Amino acid sequence: MKRLIVAIDGPSGSGKSTLGKRLARRLGYQYIDTGAMYRAVAWRALQAGIDLDDADAVTRLAGDLRIELESRPDGVGVRVDGRDVTEAIRTPAVAQGASRVSAIPAVRRVLVRIQQELGRRGGIVMDGRDIGTVVFSHAEIKVYLDASEEERARRRCAEDAARGVSTDMAATRQAIQERDRRDKTREDSPLRCADDAYYLDSTGLTIDEVLARIEALVEQRRGKSCSRD
Ligand code: C5P
Repeated sequence: MKRLIVAIDGPSGSGKSTLGKRLARRLGYQYIDTGAMYRAVAWRALQAGIDLDDADAVTRLAGDLRIELESRPDGVGVRVDGRDVTEAIRTPAVAQGASRVSAIPAVRRVLVRIQQELGRRGGIVMDGRDIGTVVFSHAEIKVYLDASEEERARRRCAEDAARGVSTDMAATRQAIQERDRRDKTREDSPLRCADDAYYLDSTGLTIDEVLARIEALVEQRRGKSCSRD
């Protein structure tokens, strides 16, 4: 059976990575979290004391970094130049930093090229902000996963709590608003729903319900591509 490309986009906290991981496991595909790549660049820049508004310095850094994503039984591990940064890139400061470095077009070019190479052979589920619009605009399956701002802030706080980090709901909501605004208004590859994407508002849905709908969509598309072959 043809190994497809599944593109999942949407705002912060909409449940993309939970859906992506579970869907990839069900399909026997590789899951790629592109947000982790932008986070890796921001983490390294912050560590090196580089000004995140210095586009040339951040771009040079992005080009030199070796970012590795590895599947682990409990999720996805991230290494930068051999160092395990899986936990370190999940802080609010790195999230804000990632949204700033991702507005630099040359940084996007570096990472998009890597993402296209990773997905070249298909059999992948990739999540981010521009996967269905830019990275794989020809993806067979495109999903735009949304949820209300309140629900997304609530989920982010629950995730943080599960990791033993206590976060304030109002501050989390404000940080989400700020990242959304930056992601949706940047000039290069802003977050938007591709014209041919399946839009799903997951507010009030469980992850199992979301997964069931997307699996049905995959089955439908697979059926179609089989009849064309
Ligand atoms: O998905 P995650 O919250 O980890 O992404 C961190 C930041 O990276 C996002 O807020 C966004 O600014 C940026 N990003 C992006 N394009 C992607 C993935 C993430 O601009 N494909």
